[in-house]
This record gives sequence, structure tokens and C-alpha cells, in this order.
Amino acid sequence: METKILQVNPEQFGDEELQEACQVLRNDGLVAFPTETVYGLGGNALHKEAANHIYAAKGRPSDNPLIVHISEVKSLYELAADVPEAAKKLSEAFWPGPLTMIFPKSDIVPYGTTGGLDTVAIRMPNHPVALALIDESGCMIAAPSANTSGKPSPTEAGHVALDLDGKIPMILDGGPVGIGIESTIIDLTEKVPMILRPGYITKEMLEEVLGEEVRIDPGIIASDSTKKPKAPGMKYKHYAPKADLVLVEGEQEAVVAKINALVREKQAAGLKVGVVATDETESLYQADYVVTIGARSDEDAIARHLYKILREFDDWNVDAIYSESFSTPRIGQAIMNRLMKAAGHQVIHV
Ligand code: AMP
Ligand code: MG
Repeated sequence: METKILQVNPEQFGDEELQEACQVLRNDGLVAFPTETVYGLGGNALHKEAANHIYAAKGRPSDNPLIVHISEVKSLYELAADVPEAAKKLSEAFWPGPLTMIFPKSDIVPYGTTGGLDTVAIRMPNHPVALALIDESGCMIAAPSANTSGKPSPTEAGHVALDLDGKIPMILDGGPVGIGIESTIIDLTEKVPMILRPGYITKEMLEEVLGEEVRIDPGIIASDSTKKPKAPGMKYKHYAPKADLVLVEGEQEAVVAKINALVREKQAAGLKVGVVATDETESLYQADYVVTIGARSDEDAIARHLYKILREFDDWNVDAIYSESFSTPRIGQAIMNRLMKAAGHQVIHV
């Protein structure tokens, strides 16, 4: 299949491009499109044929459910069998935005979209291209990240093309995304709301709006936990670059010294080594490739650059990557969740 890549201006989505993309969606075809978090691979959420195409294109395990994207709150009441008060508060506070909520599903949602679950994940994205697609096509859009399953999520259209060229009919290129990590997922089907995936919207932000305690799924915190994460997708190795990635945690000076020593060891064995540094430490490393993820004080930049950097190391065919760790104050938990998964939980404390 030939993949058509259309350049679109997010501020001014041309009508011709919009109509062409909507036509693909109405025929159960797939369109990759930008959202504020990462690029999504969209198909009609209410048709199981479209969902099947998504799983096939990504090579995604069929028990890993899809998030349904909507453009107006009224769709929530069609998709969810029950909408608790907490969801009303959270949608008012954070939609459109990087928050996904889990509800009991209504009958119109096929099991093909929910990976066989009786619950459905719903989000209203904050991106003009995504919202226009949903509005104009008249489809609620199931859209996982538009990468090959297991690879880092795409934060630019070029990443989507690398993974899915020839496998999907259309990519809308609306430039690089703003946030760079996937939405926060909160489960509202239990008594105490529970975060199933950390993201840009933090536990504290959710608690402030809800006025009650929010828990974090124990299955996603402990690296050696035997607990199963409740979001099926969180159990898979994920976000991973091709090379072996190891995180080094501790005081800056000790981290730099340790990483440099590890790099020398690998290089002595004839291997090509990359380092993920910050603006503050970039000049202190000696490796084959040293990449800065941004200033340590700018956690938004760290989130935005993370996946792009992991993909760059793939291009350079390095054998090993060492990264500093980024437990920054606000979204550090979300960043470290992704990095830890990418590293298969290999961490050295110094
Ligand atoms: P992605 O769209 O690629 O960011 O992946 C969607 C994530 O949402 C995966 O980790 C899924 O396991 C999770 N998810 C989707 N639907 C549900 C659901 N009904 N219950 C729990 N987790 C879900
Ligand atoms: Mg994904």
C-alpha cells in the first residue's frame, strides 16, 4: 500500500486535506495524525474492522486496548455506560488535554477496540488537527501511538513514516508535537480513582480538582514488582531503542564519572556507545555520541525530546546507551516511567 503524506498547518487545516483524510476514516482506513501528546494512528472506534487494521499495522498484541478520541463531551455519554461525578469534574478541568479516563463501556463500543475488556478508555485531545478530524469525519477515533509496537512513540511525522510507511494509507504531518509523552490514564471504575499511566497531568493536579485521594497503580511503580499493571499496555517492554540502555542515578559529579568509566569499558571492547546528557553536563562526557535532552531545569523540554533522542540512537547503530536520570519535580514520574521501561529497569545507583 502506498502511504500518502500530507503536510498540514495545524492553525489552518486545509479543507481538501481534511476531506481526503475523513474519507479514509469513513472507509475504515487509517490516518496517522498529530495530537498534543504524540502522533496517533486513527481508525473508526466503533468499527471492529478499523480496530483490526490498527492492530495489524502496529503489530500490537490484541489484548492491548485502544484509547477512543472524542471532540465533544456529549460523545462521552454515548461511549460510557456510566459517567461518575469525578469524570465530569476532570473533563471540565482537563479536556481537551492529555488526560485519558477509563469507564464501563456502552454496547456501541466493540470488544475489538477495548481488547476484550468491558471498560473503555476515552480522551479529548487538545490539537486542532485531531479535533477537526473527529468533528468532520463524524467518527469517534480509536488511536494508539502511531509507532510499531515496542518502539518509542512518534513525536514527529517522520517517526511515523519510518515505522508505518507502506502499511497505512495516510499520514498528516502537522509538525512536532508539544508534550512528547503519552496521556495520563486514570481509572474511575473503582472506588478510589487510580492512575494507570503517569503523564503530563499529575496526581497532585487530579487530587486538587477531585478534592480526594488519587492512587497510583502499584503495578507501574515498583520495578521488581510481581503485581500486574492494570493498563494491559503497561506490561509490555516498550519505548525501547535497539541498543541496551542503562540509567545511572545519583549526584551529578558521581554520575558523570560513572558513565565515563562505563563508556571507556565498552569502547575498549570495541563497542559504539551513546550518552544521554543535559545541557549542564554535555561537555563533560567522552563517548561516540553525546546527546543533550535539554536543560535539567526545563522538564517540559526533557519530556518533549525523550523519544526523539531514543530514536536517534537507533539511526546511529550504537551498541550501548547510558543515560542520566530525570526525577524532576512535576512530570519526572512520567519521564522516569518511560525511561525505566526503555531501559528494561536497568539502573545503576552511584
Ligand atoms: P497508547 O494508545 O499506545 O498510548 O496505549 C494506550 C494505553 O491505554 C495502553 O497502555 C492500554 O493498556 C491503556 N488502556 C486502553 N484502554 C484501557 C482500558 N479499558 N483499561 C485499562 N487500560 C486501558
Ligand atoms: Mg503506545
